[in-house]
Amino acid sequence: MRYVSTRGQAPVLNFEDVLLAGLASDGGLYVPENLPRFTQEEIASWAGLPYHELAFKVMRPFVTGSIPDADFKQILEDTYGVFAHSSVAPLRQLGNNEWVLELFHGPTLAFKDFALQLLGRLLDYVLAKRNERVVIMGATSGDTGSAAIEGCKACDNVDIFIMHPHNRVSEVQRRQMTTIFGDNIHNIAIEGNFDDCQEMVKDSFADQSFLKGTRLVAVNSINWARIMAQIVYYFHAALQLGGPARSIAFSVPTGNFGDIFAGYLARNMGLPISQLIVATNRNDILHRFMSGNQYAKDTLHPTLSPSMDIMVSSNFERLLFDLHGRNGAAVAELMSTFKQTGSFSVADDRWTEARKLFDSLAVNDEETCATIAEVYQECGELLDPHTAIGVKAARDCRRSLATPMVILGTAHPVKFPEAVEKAGVGAAPALPPHLADLFQRDERCTVLANDLKTVQAFVAAHGNRGKPL
Ligand SMILES: *Cc1c(COP(=O)(O)O)cnc(C)c1O
Repeated sequence: MRYVSTRGQAPVLNFEDVLLAGLASDGGLYVPENLPRFTQEEIASWAGLPYHELAFKVMRPFVTGSIPDADFKQILEDTYGVFAHSSVAPLRQLGNNEWVLELFHGPTLAFKDFALQLLGRLLDYVLAKRNERVVIMGATSGDTGSAAIEGCKACDNVDIFIMHPHNRVSEVQRRQMTTIFGDNIHNIAIEGNFDDCQEMVKDSFADQSFLKGTRLVAVNSINWARIMAQIVYYFHAALQLGGPARSIAFSVPTGNFGDIFAGYLARNMGLPISQLIVATNRNDILHRFMSGNQYAKDTLHPTLSPSMDIMVSSNFERLLFDLHGRNGAAVAELMSTFKQTGSFSVADDRWTEARKLFDSLAVNDEETCATIAEVYQECGELLDPHTAIGVKAARDCRRSLATPMVILGTAHPVKFPEAVEKAGVGAAPALPPHLADLFQRDERCTVLANDLKTVQAFVAAHGNRGKPL
């Protein structure tokens, strides 16, 4: 498989190089040159496969030429073997023809494990083959950091530096990062906010001279491998609910448009998805686009669903590329307008095209808590605030009661006790067995000033299994 940039001016890469690439050199994001397409018969024949075998069927075309089948199968078996539920992504019924796809049975209790457990193993495989080491730098407001550290902790060829804003992530989220020890794991608490952390990652990608030749790799959802891994569970859910003979609708709590873009790809690969609902919190740039063709930057609003607190949705550019007939120059022009003015609209026919598949809703904190309480009363399920936003949007935007509605359950409620408390249901979620002693474990973390040079000096001094580069 070959990969092209959404802005059309960067070199075409194979899977291995895309895995190690961050942004494309023209500022765009990499996407497959040709999306594989499966027939209905083919998809139907996968019914009942264990998750890792289904994952092989769905993802194989994306890695062909870079990873031999037998090796890829083994990587997938290892990856999904660490999940704490034997179905990996079980469906749980909430209401009439309404289901939550529980994506929180991985090591860090959020859906990001699906992609980052795989990404860590793929990186190690490819780097061992090339006899190369890399440094990962990432910024996190919570879930990404712990999932990336869990995914990379066993990687021999990766040193990972995760920055989080000091004293501004929840205790569960912090402990999930700082209680994992290894020579190659480095937690940095920055005396600043999340944007400061993000900015330092961006600046480090722009000028990597401090790394003395070691390659810097991205683990945020601009990395294609993360999107790829997320396509699989749309197939998994549909196959259990009568697909592909029957169409399915999905509601996806989203921030960076990564998870829902994977659903869009699943549809283009042949899965009959009749509706995709973009569910946002108060940070609603995607909702404003879907409902009114205005993609416009707003200020950041902190919410009870912090993993969706974003101002711009990086993966949205991948959808724009398709909406414009895969014309990189058109995308580059929109993004340059956005950079200059902070907003853009697309041509009416492009927007109408998007609306055939996508609906959207923005859900505020009050509605989020009300939905947690409502669902708890209806069926005794305790939702995390992100999933609750998905449920609210599903209920408001649903087009057909005859079509199964699947809400992506993106996190375990124990990660977000504040929202659950505010919902007033009187139930406190408990930590699952593998994390039961989380609050007793030792922590390891370095607090650094909000200063690029200080951070880069720290990375250079520890980037080779804790030793200087
Ligand atoms: C990251 C995250 C999201 C948003 O996912 P995107 O791919 O950015 O749309 C939603 N819910 C939870 C719990 C997350 O961790």
